[in-house]
Amino acid sequence: MSYQELPDNPDFSQLEKSTLEWWQKNDLVSLYLHQNDSSEKIFSFIDGPITANNPMGVHHARGRTLKDVFQRFKNAQGYAQRFQNGFDCQGLWVEVEVEKEAGFNSKKDILNYGLENFTNACLARVDKFSKIQSEQSQRLGMFMDWDNSYYTNSQTNNLYIWHFLKTVHQKGWLIKKKSATTWCPRCETGLSQHEQADGYQMDTDTSVYLKFKLKNRPDEYILAWTTTPWTLSANVLLAINTDFEYVKVKNEDQILYLAKVAADRLGLTDYESINASSLLNLEYESLYNIPAQTDIKHYVTNWDQVNPIEGTGVVHIAPGCGQEDFELGKKLQSDMLAPLDPSGIFLPGYGELTGLYAHKVNDLVFEYLKSKNLLFKTEAITHRYPHCWRCKTKCLFRLEDSWFIKSDEIRPLLKEATKKVSWHPKFTGRRMQNWLDSMEDWMINRKRFYGLALPFYECSCGELTVIGSKEELLQQAIHPELVEKLPSFHRPWIDDIEIKCPKCGQSVKRIPDVGDVWLDAGVVPFSTLKYLEDKSYWQKWFPADMVLEMTEQVRLWFYSMLFFSVTLEGEPPYKNVVTHGEVRDEKGEKMSKTKKNGIPYNDAIDKMGADPMRWLYCQQKAFASVNFGYNIADQVKRDFLLILWNSYRFFIQHANLTDQSNPSAYNPQSATNIMDIWIVSRLHQTIDSVTSDLDKYRSNRATSTIQNFLSDLSTWYIRRNRDRSDNSDLLHYVFETFFRLIAPFTPFISEYLYQNLIQNNYQANKSIHLQSWPIADKSLINETLNQQMPQVRDFCQIIHGQRQASALKIRQPLAQVVINTPNPIIDPQLIEIIRQETNIKEVVFVKNPANSIQLDTNLTPELIAEGEYRDLVRSIQVLRKNQGLKLTDVIIIHSPSWPQIFEKEILSKTVASSIDKSASLSIELSVDVKK
Ligand SMILES: [Zn+2]
Ligand SMILES: [Zn+2]
Repeated sequence: MSYQELPDNPDFSQLEKSTLEWWQKNDLVSLYLHQNDSSEKIFSFIDGPITANNPMGVHHARGRTLKDVFQRFKNAQGYAQRFQNGFDCQGLWVEVEVEKEAGFNSKKDILNYGLENFTNACLARVDKFSKIQSEQSQRLGMFMDWDNSYYTNSQTNNLYIWHFLKTVHQKGWLIKKKSATTWCPRCETGLSQHEQADGYQMDTDTSVYLKFKLKNRPDEYILAWTTTPWTLSANVLLAINTDFEYVKVKNEDQILYLAKVAADRLGLTDYESINASSLLNLEYESLYNIPAQTDIKHYVTNWDQVNPIEGTGVVHIAPGCGQEDFELGKKLQSDMLAPLDPSGIFLPGYGELTGLYAHKVNDLVFEYLKSKNLLFKTEAITHRYPHCWRCKTKCLFRLEDSWFIKSDEIRPLLKEATKKVSWHPKFTGRRMQNWLDSMEDWMINRKRFYGLALPFYECSCGELTVIGSKEELLQQAIHPELVEKLPSFHRPWIDDIEIKCPKCGQSVKRIPDVGDVWLDAGVVPFSTLKYLEDKSYWQKWFPADMVLEMTEQVRLWFYSMLFFSVTLEGEPPYKNVVTHGEVRDEKGEKMSKTKKNGIPYNDAIDKMGADPMRWLYCQQKAFASVNFGYNIADQVKRDFLLILWNSYRFFIQHANLTDQSNPSAYNPQSATNIMDIWIVSRLHQTIDSVTSDLDKYRSNRATSTIQNFLSDLSTWYIRRNRDRSDNSDLLHYVFETFFRLIAPFTPFISEYLYQNLIQNNYQANKSIHLQSWPIADKSLINETLNQQMPQVRDFCQIIHGQRQASALKIRQPLAQVVINTPNPIIDPQLIEIIRQETNIKEVVFVKNPANSIQLDTNLTPELIAEGEYRDLVRSIQVLRKNQGLKLTDVIIIHSPSWPQIFEKEILSKTVASSIDKSASLSIELSVDVKK
């Protein structure tokens, strides 16, 4: 039997495609998924749902690679797993993409299109892209139970959230309250704190210094400052901070009041200090004489949040236009003006601003102030300003009734639960603690269309009913038969179901709002694990042994799951949280659509192949960002895949020449050659550390350990043992083990080469991915040898360097080298390796605290003749190769000269029958033996 020859320059992408085809034809994935079904050991992984909204990007491939690597590792170790993939299928991000595709710009467009059509378009979009993403993931080599994926828009998922919301309501945590929320005027909905955190951008705006005229004090003004001029028409209060020094400034004919540091900064020098408290409660006149401002009492108040480092030390407060302003206004029970409609347009009552878009009124406001002689100056300012995390529209602030889950009671429980989790790396655990410290009440409603229908029924009698299941809805619905006919529990259909108020008997409509998407994803450890239907199944798989997502998911998915889990069960939903960083371009810059430096996933996988992509991702520390591109992928091919390919090719060519092999009978304990003992020892050392690295979720260390082993194998073991014919069984054993070790990382090439190695003719049950994980045999790990071999290589390298310095090429034998070292090598086999590698007759070790290597460079006539002989043999081998001669073809040599004392060796080494004199070196086939 012989191994099938491999090409010297593989097309990885093609190789992967044919391997994938073979897997699919033989349903290998299903064999893999169910291999450990009856195992006692289980590994529970819960997949964070990917938004089924667009084709997947190369950044998705990073997390998906790591998920696949750890699941493959556990599968090979015999753990039963669920392999369930998840799709995020409802909420604002789906809506926004459907709107984009249809060319919609506002909620009105959606209403004109019809809610039913819109929901159906959303459903169709996630259906389409979940299929595309499944195919793309399969091309990445991901083995998952694709037919059993979960979808967050499923009825099961939505009803599980109802159950959760009812529980929250029973605990008294569900509240409706007014708040000035960050608001997207395009999506026409408020955004929660954790969503908003993603949307900040640096904006350059115009800030304004302006004068508020004090009542009953002619020509006296308070100088205030704001970065949001549109909010001035909703001004109610001015705030100062009496902890700082304030001054009275003479400016032209007027008196201005402001903080001293601000006066200095603004170059206002003609001032005197005042008692800051004397400003408190002073009343001032409305900036605008508009209906909305009628009957508003304006006065100066104290607020410890005011900091004169910016502006004037006097802050304009519009409690209807900002979260902090709102909190202050609420405390003071002041008036509140909410000037904008949901699309950011000024409502009636705001004079010339009425009907205008809030972000477009700056110039109008400045002109107005100037005309009233209230404008002090304007100034450009660059600041962090919230933008909608989905559609990137610049946000506003609106006063709205919103639904919240209160956080105070659960906060300490979440913090406690967080401590029970292993965070990889540890700092993500601290990040979660910080987030929990700063988290506000969770705003869970969105004034949108396609999402979880919040099961809140508010009766005009004041009774709030929260429906917790389909059964409850059937019981309380006025027309239960309509519930059974619902095509799905989405809007608009669900909106037709009215219930009977349990308190007063009136019919009650559902509130029109839908839920935050993080409810959809947070419920997954319950909805996908049959928490309500099959407790023993849930207990088997809960909590997850591992979840793995991008670092930003700490305050998103990891948080929302934790919230659900602690609410329902008082326990964290996961044991290990692994986070990974982002994917950047080759120069380390963020990939973005505007910079056009992104690479579409399909292009990347086609050109570079999945294995190089996966190896590239695995090499980076998971939490750090990774640079990605074709040049980097080429580097991966050169540094790893091609070295593997060439080493393996050498092995099969070599093994095909020796037909005594019996690899299945090979016993690594039987090795006697020191190089064999060493490579087996290194192999088992590598298994040991890769196993422990993967146990700790450190793919980067595992890959570098593997790469180091491969380098030892190719640049030392194989190179030093080229001429041996007794080690093909050993190499078979080494490669067989090595392929099992790399299978989780590079599933394609490991399969391809493994099939070649076992000469299997492609039976699916012999796939590398059904093989067990190699187990390190500690008795084969020879620590001394593992330490000494690198020393041997170092000595050789120094000797090579000295030869080069003395212009003595390697084929010229030398008489002796004396190596002074504190740790002499005494093993004769290792000394022999140095001797052969360096082509020196005698290698002498001397124990000496100082390191030095003395090379005897004297050449005797005998040494020179031997050097000539080696040169000549080498030249003849090159000629043989060039003339395409077989190893067994006998030749005649014609040469100008040759060292006579080595004539016999020359003939035997070159398989020649004779050598004779001629003007130049040439060879020909010997006529005597020609057939
Ligand atoms: Zn938006
Ligand atoms: Zn009622």
